[in-house]
Amino acid sequence: MATCFRLRSFGAPRFPLAPPRHLRPRPGCSGLTARAAPGRAQLRSYARGPAGLSAELLRTDSFVGGRWLPAAATFPVTDPASGATLGMVADCGAAEAHAAVRTAYEAFHSWRGVSAKERSSLLRKWYDLMMQNKDDLAKIITAESGKPLAEAQGEMVYSALFLEWFSEEARRVYGDIIPTSSKDRRALVLKQPLGVASIITPWNFPSAMITRKVGAALAAGCTVVVKPAEDTPFSALALAQLANQAGIPPGVYNVVPCSRAKAKEVGEALCTDPLVSKISFTGSTATGKILLHHAANSVKRVSMELGGLAPFIVFDSANVDQAVKGAMASKFRNAGQTCVCANRFLVQRGIHDSFVKKFAEAMKTNLRVGNGFEEGTTQGPLINEKAVEKVEKHVSDAVSKGATIVTGGKRHQYGRNFFEPTLLSNVTKDMLCSREETFGPLAPVIKFDTEEEAIAIANATDVGLAGYFYSQDPAQIWRVAEKLEVGMVGVNEGMISSVECPFGGVKQSGLGREGSKYGIDEYLEVKYVCYGSV
Ligand code: NAP
Repeated sequence: MATCFRLRSFGAPRFPLAPPRHLRPRPGCSGLTARAAPGRAQLRSYARGPAGLSAELLRTDSFVGGRWLPAAATFPVTDPASGATLGMVADCGAAEAHAAVRTAYEAFHSWRGVSAKERSSLLRKWYDLMMQNKDDLAKIITAESGKPLAEAQGEMVYSALFLEWFSEEARRVYGDIIPTSSKDRRALVLKQPLGVASIITPWNFPSAMITRKVGAALAAGCTVVVKPAEDTPFSALALAQLANQAGIPPGVYNVVPCSRAKAKEVGEALCTDPLVSKISFTGSTATGKILLHHAANSVKRVSMELGGLAPFIVFDSANVDQAVKGAMASKFRNAGQTCVCANRFLVQRGIHDSFVKKFAEAMKTNLRVGNGFEEGTTQGPLINEKAVEKVEKHVSDAVSKGATIVTGGKRHQYGRNFFEPTLLSNVTKDMLCSREETFGPLAPVIKFDTEEEAIAIANATDVGLAGYFYSQDPAQIWRVAEKLEVGMVGVNEGMISSVECPFGGVKQSGLGREGSKYGIDEYLEVKYVCYGSV
């Protein structure tokens, strides 16, 4: 097996002017089709630059068993900024999902036997290729998700770092020897890979949400079938191209893209197939609950990274400028579309007016709405019209109940999927924006009087992913950090994610942790071996 793990040379063609032959439409199969002509032009225009965009990375077929496979049907992927079609992608169904699982299952039996050192070096090669192609990968992220190019470049590096991190962790999976009460026995603990992992991911981090799971899975010795979001399959497929180039063996990393109309059947196939041992999902709490039901029937291991409602508390003792800086970073990344974005700003009475004034000024000075490819854009489009409607609904509900619009408040003239960065004050606990994840550029501010009150408001929800607070009082810092019912706390810090640290939530924000030294455990089984008659 090991002999086939060769790093092939990577001479990717470039197409600043026209797509190469293999990306032109083929009758009856997927591709950047004639119907998708505006999108092709779009991708090409995005790709313009000194080097153009690597055509090798623009894939539209599913990737199973090391091969690119067209499906009977295709679905369009659109640019959220312009609404143009970027390309037509293979629309896999339950049959293709089961076939991919079977392939992954067969590959598992070889992959689990590959030495940890070799798995490590293959993941490292995959990481190196991601870094070599980082500019192109970032362009793909911006094209399909709309996020500003600078943020896409940040996601790309973050994404690649999970492969680097887990290439290192692959060699640190240790078991145990346990002293027993019997003289003639020895007790050992082995850690073994679970098997095939089904990986279902969202659109808001089209690349990083995949590598955070897949890096850990492959390092542990599992194989995977990935179902990316309908909106962002290109990043998952580009990763497949690089996995192949890195020499990751056929069947170890598989991708079955599908349209939203087929997500339910593909999801069910991936979660109920008896050959699957593990389900790892990132997305909404509502979908997570459906997948948990699927998992229950065959008692599969699950990891769930679900929605949040992050509180961002500013106490009277805080440094206001530091708090405003953290608020900007936490709230407006990806136009408010991250699961750890601050959703509710709780600001103590004594510092409230100063914070609101400075926050509004910072928003007006630093945020620029536009196409993610335009220089200087900090706020791209929301992913689709439904997302814009949700922000609109949260604003109108709050205003109808007495909130004040400090800045923003309506759709942005730039285009259909754009919304103005919005700050609301006089917000109360009963408003929708205090109770539901907005997932958009809306910052609602609730005024409070005491620490106890702030903690009570922060914890009065059935989710708990991230929480942030600003304070200069060391005793208060300990108290609040311990009392917040969340999986991750930012103290005087608005950006907390990193590959070395555990990512995950409590309550209905999920199960399990990703990244860090804990992430690999999600893909390992503990086996106790009792060695008798010694
Ligand atoms: P979503 O609707 O739950 O979709 C996530 C994934 O699940 C997509 O691939 C989607 O496919 C698929 N899906 C939808 N319905 C399904 C079903 N019945 N069976 C199987 N798969 C199904 O979530 P989203 O709106 O795309 O993502 C935003 C949510 O994700 C937010 O709540 C956010 O907080 C959360 N999130 C959490 C984390 C975390 O680490 N905790 C990170 C990022 C995002 P389609 O795209 O085809 O619908």
